[in-house]
Amino acid sequence: MSEHLPATVAPAQLECPKCKVIINYFDTKNSSFFVCPACRTFFEAQGLLPARIINGFKKSLNARLPLLVGMTGTLFGDEYRVVGAMVKKEARNSAQWVEYVLLQQATGATAQLAVYEGHWMFIQPTDKQYAVTTPPAPDNTVTLTPC
Ligand SMILES: [Zn+2]
Repeated sequence: MSEHLPATVAPAQLECPKCKVIINYFDTKNSSFFVCPACRTFFEAQGLLPARIINGFKKSLNARLPLLVGMTGTLFGDEYRVVGAMVKKEARNSAQWVEYVLLQQATGATAQLAVYEGHWMFIQPTDKQYAVTTPPAPDNTVTLTPC
């Protein structure tokens, strides 16, 4: 059972390598890729190494995201903090969805929450192994069986 998260957890901070704005983040153990909310520069920063600018985004996405990095909430009785958000799109069609990285700060466990056209999906890692027991059907479905 998880412990209750404090109402406020001080975020870690780093400086945008382009515009120098201070960026807050919460997953200090696993965070290495960042997008500056001010100038939308995408960069990698690991430890004390200099940040490496990868590219920039032309569109601001925060207004469309129903959850923001830093928010906390309870799912299935466990409290999580949103520590990452990504808007993804398929290359050849207009399908677009949002994937959130959730951190259960009491245990350090991560999970993923995705939303597509109002439908939410919660994903957690598992230690179980699965095998594909039937080849893909014409509709590309397969059957997974626990090993
Ligand atoms: Zn910036």
